[in-house]
Amino acid sequence: MCGIIGYIGKRKASEVLYRGLKRLEYRGYDSCGIGVVNNNKLIIKKDVGKVEEVAKKEGFLEIEGNIGIGHNRWATHGKVSKENAHPHTDCLDRIAIVHNGIITNYKELKEELIKKGHKFKSETDTEVIAHLIEEELNKFDEYNEENYIKAVKNALKKIKGSYALSIINKDFPNLLIGARYESPLILGIGENEFFLGSDVTAFLDYTNRAVPLEDGDIVVVKNNSYYIENNGKIVKRKEIEIKWNIEQAEKQGFPHFMLKEIFEQPETIKVSAKISSEEIKEVAKLIDKFNKVYFVGAGTSYHACLYAEYLFSKLNKLVKAEDASEFLNKSVVDNDTLVVGITQSGETYDTLKALKYAKEKGAKTAAIVNVIGSTATRIVDIPILMGAGIEIAVCATKTFTSQLMIIYRLFLEYGKIKDRNMNKYEQVINKIPNYIKEVLNQSEHIKNIAESLKAQNYIFISKGINLVSALEGALKFKEITYLHAEGMSAGMLKHGTISLIDENFDTIAIVPPKDSKVFSSILSNIEEVRARNGRVIAVTPIKINDCDNITVPNVLEEISPIVYAPAYQLLAYYKAVQLKRDVDKPRGLAKSVTVE
Ligand code: GLU
Repeated sequence: MCGIIGYIGKRKASEVLYRGLKRLEYRGYDSCGIGVVNNNKLIIKKDVGKVEEVAKKEGFLEIEGNIGIGHNRWATHGKVSKENAHPHTDCLDRIAIVHNGIITNYKELKEELIKKGHKFKSETDTEVIAHLIEEELNKFDEYNEENYIKAVKNALKKIKGSYALSIINKDFPNLLIGARYESPLILGIGENEFFLGSDVTAFLDYTNRAVPLEDGDIVVVKNNSYYIENNGKIVKRKEIEIKWNIEQAEKQGFPHFMLKEIFEQPETIKVSAKISSEEIKEVAKLIDKFNKVYFVGAGTSYHACLYAEYLFSKLNKLVKAEDASEFLNKSVVDNDTLVVGITQSGETYDTLKALKYAKEKGAKTAAIVNVIGSTATRIVDIPILMGAGIEIAVCATKTFTSQLMIIYRLFLEYGKIKDRNMNKYEQVINKIPNYIKEVLNQSEHIKNIAESLKAQNYIFISKGINLVSALEGALKFKEITYLHAEGMSAGMLKHGTISLIDENFDTIAIVPPKDSKVFSSILSNIEEVRARNGRVIAVTPIKINDCDNITVPNVLEEISPIVYAPAYQLLAYYKAVQLKRDVDKPRGLAKSVTVE
């Protein structure tokens, strides 16, 4: 989940690392650090805290030198402390490494290394790698560059688990080594300079040429060139051009990335309504061809999967939404199965695991992804890009509505394959951006409601396809306000949860459009809450008495989860701002969850 970066070239490495770490901060942010080699000295600066404060306190930018590595940590092994922050070094402080992932056999390795006399300075799993390289290096008679590279390769053979690594050695300042296995790592190629990054935003300020590495790859950058080895053999990996604009990674006058990204939705939806047409047609054909179809995702992406389940049911096609982390425990996968993974980053560990499992079982695979060149786009049969642009806030907003749009287009194509009249569904697509604008125009009103909320507990309810909105609304709300929120079907409320409702427990009711067959029944559910003195905030196409109303356009039910989304996104946003939460980087989270 963390962000790693590496640099070698003519620039001041500390500046490149600092900027890259700021860009990657959304991936992990409990502590950070950099390691730079200058005049054959290794300088490490690290501590607990956000990049800006640690950089200032530790004087990152005072360090000279043209090669270095950096890390934003999202702790998995060992508490959040200065000692556990990366980079980690060997006993003699020659080798420094940064790591994203988990070394599953670190305990055994650590015990062995301690027996051999290695002294550990941290509690992390990562540190074993530095000592292991040192140990392998000690086996050679000569301490030279060639043997050092061999030692790195030998050490990597001994570790189990997942890793993306950037490695430097103070005695070989012309050498930057990277390696990946089940954690993302991309090589950036500039003019006589090279970068390593967990994703392309780490180096987009300097270059848009990128080479995504594959599992098992080791990249050795030296003397203005590089080579990639996998399993002892030199391999070629495709270079891609990143079309993202780094300005998208700036706030452009908005106080937070989240607000900027919420307001980008009329535009991002337009892009998603046009992008990847061929792939969408192909996947629609596969949905038709295969008996078993799963949509698999985690968190917000799981809610998008649920949207697919509801939508396809309208065309009599059974599509199952699955929580990626449970997929291996209950799915029935064979060669009559299609598995579509939904992952913004294309790196979500559980979703990748589900997709790999599906492939092993002979299933066809596809993925709906935002990040170009990410692992999911490379491991599936058909990747579909959603085109939402860089999303920096940890809390997904525009990428969620883009996911829904791609699913909606799959639904349209599938309907056509089945000779259904899809005209009304097709015609409405162009209107969605304006519907979204109508909701965004109520931003001030939503802010006032958000600021008037007093409860510590919230329940988000809906019925039908907008159960997706209830679940996603609750997730947004709890994720950034740190107030308790749950989402559930309004029908389920009576079966236990309603006993919680009183004047201190608020309900956010997502009311379906008027033509929905569940429209009137949710009105009864609202009455039931009101009868128990519960406050109700209704996201609704009609005014409902005795409730705080956030009015949304009355649209076709099938598109309503896309149109309604900005309403509850803004509600969560303004409440979190009022509570002075760190909106873009909520505590304990990271944007792409690349560990199990
Ligand atoms: N397992 C390492 C640690 O706990 C790296 C975690 C990460 O990916 O940030 O420090």
